[in-house]
Amino acid sequence: MMLSALYATNTKRSFWRKWASKVMRIQEALRWAISQLRSEDAQADAEILLCHVLQKPRAFLFTWPERPLSEAEQTHFETLLARRIKGEPVAYITGRRAFWNLELATHPSTLIPRADTETLVSAVLETVPEQPLDIVDLGTGTGAIALALASERPHWRVQGIDRLAETVRLAQQNAQHNGLAHVRFAQGDWCLGLVDHSVDVLVSNPPYIRTDDPHLQQGDVRFEPSSALTSGADGLDDIRAIINDAGRVLRAGGWLFLEHGYDQRDDVVLLMIDAGFEHLETRKDLGRQDRVTFGNLPTAIKL
Ligand code: GLN
Repeated sequence: MMLSALYATNTKRSFWRKWASKVMRIQEALRWAISQLRSEDAQADAEILLCHVLQKPRAFLFTWPERPLSEAEQTHFETLLARRIKGEPVAYITGRRAFWNLELATHPSTLIPRADTETLVSAVLETVPEQPLDIVDLGTGTGAIALALASERPHWRVQGIDRLAETVRLAQQNAQHNGLAHVRFAQGDWCLGLVDHSVDVLVSNPPYIRTDDPHLQQGDVRFEPSSALTSGADGLDDIRAIINDAGRVLRAGGWLFLEHGYDQRDDVVLLMIDAGFEHLETRKDLGRQDRVTFGNLPTAIKL
């Protein structure tokens, strides 16, 4: 064998031996992953992905920083990390997302629940009396809003509606998994299938982004279905459809809570006033942006 070939083989071998014998520990794996990720949530993303690989809660990472990763765990972690580096949202990689006090399964057919939507859940809980009520979540997706409300108000009759059959199945699975099997989910197009004057509270986080919004080409939203994000040239098509039909399905005095874009407050307020809603209020999300507007119908006909 020529000297140069021998040298090359030996170099490869020693590199391989060094690599193979290098056991990565939890703390090192996290540090390495954070250095590879360019997302602003690098630390949180690395922790969630490693917990997913190890099938352990977050506290485990900090209790056992010296715990070595097996070769299989290390390979799995590298594969998940490569997907995140390409931009895929963590919630689609792990198939899970925490929302309120729930653990929800996610799917690329529907929106990933956001912490900002907890603003809507809080607004409902703080505004609506605790007595038994009929409440419907339109475009429920994973079931996040419906299930969070049901977990806080066990005596409310909560129903979630979604246009897609596979999303309805996902929400049902999330209800079972969180011990909230009494929440009903059905397929439907906004208020269309609902009986006249049968609902006390309508809630929705509908699509509300303008179809030409440049943000749709950036970050995690690129992986989410446009059916869950966009709604016509001004982003208000679905919000208009919901507001227009809300008066038919709500009982006298009934409430409507809508999540909307940071710059859509005035439009939503005007649309709701035109539809007869009163006592309009807007709540800000965690980033201090207008995010949720709500109001109620008059309790009796005004003369
Ligand atoms: N708030 C989400 C976003 O800007 C959109 C959610 C929605 O369209 N309902 O990414």
